[in-house]
Amino acid sequence: MRWLVISIVCWASLAGAAPPASPEAKTPSVTIAKPAAKPAAEQPAAKPKDVMPAPDLVGVTDDPLLGKGARVNGDEMHGVVAFTFDDGPNPETTPSVIDALEKYDIPATFFIVTQRLLGKHGEKSREILARELTGGFLVGDHSMTHINLRKSAGKALDKEIDQSIRTLAKEASRPIGLFRPPYGALSAAGRVRLKKLGVTEVIWSIDTLDWRAHNEQKLRKKVVSMIEKENGGIVLMHDVKPITAKVISEVLDDLEAENCQRLKEQKEPIVPVSIHYFLRDGKTPRAIPDAVQKRTAAYKAALPTRCAARPPLPAPPPPPAKPASSVVAKPPTSSTPKRQIGDFPDKGCLENPLAKGCQ
Ligand SMILES: [Zn+2]
Repeated sequence: MRWLVISIVCWASLAGAAPPASPEAKTPSVTIAKPAAKPAAEQPAAKPKDVMPAPDLVGVTDDPLLGKGARVNGDEMHGVVAFTFDDGPNPETTPSVIDALEKYDIPATFFIVTQRLLGKHGEKSREILARELTGGFLVGDHSMTHINLRKSAGKALDKEIDQSIRTLAKEASRPIGLFRPPYGALSAAGRVRLKKLGVTEVIWSIDTLDWRAHNEQKLRKKVVSMIEKENGGIVLMHDVKPITAKVISEVLDDLEAENCQRLKEQKEPIVPVSIHYFLRDGKTPRAIPDAVQKRTAAYKAALPTRCAARPPLPAPPPPPAKPASSVVAKPPTSSTPKRQIGDFPDKGCLENPLAKGCQ
């Protein structure tokens, strides 16, 4: 406790010496309890937002459907999948991602790096943000400049959380209830800040590592394999990456094909859903809004029709013709272990897929 008081006083001194960070800081309208020991002249008053969110910020984070939830890590639900796309908008790549999501009727959440929205160079990004919102996608904040917030406090949080959320709320004309820290890293002070603002922290459970992928077909296969293996969850991808923009349509097609196969086998499909399904109040699942439930039901209802409209799968290749002499094939030796469906190639296979044991 003593440490906390000292920290607040030190921070208040620093804050008082520095120029105001934003217009909001110049016109505080919330009164706070002053430290009793010193007269006001000796003790620079803490800016209200150092202690509690500025009133305008409370307004822009007041999202009763998405905000104020427990930290989401993607393990809250199985059997459904929520797609998330980080770091955009990028006028070069994000539109293709939106096109693919709309084609396959997939809900998704975009976590926005808000400096992309600023100024003249942000004009196209702002248009894309508007398209995301009118398309019924969710948007959350992903910091102002995408720095690692693992050790951040004070002014860094003012900028990367408060100012960033204010920027996004203004451009989106709605309160912002979701925040994803860059790299999934957030200091304890950052978590306190989100809690005070009533903003839900959202991580992921299926990390596709698309940002470092080079091979489109490998990435395509990997994403759906991971979704199957984990039986759903929250998928992390990056709409700013050209490879993701190129491959996302095929990924969603593979997911649909997988779901069609499951229907055929009378198994439950892994239904793409909005991130609402992962929200918890403490450990209690939050009620899903009617419109969101209806959208999920509509996807399920439309799936048989979509499956019927799909082109038939190519026939499997015929078995190789038997050689004239009846040579008995040897069973695989222990040095060539059989790879199971759903296994991931090891690192050696990724580098050299033709190596022994990688097929
Ligand atoms: Zn990011």
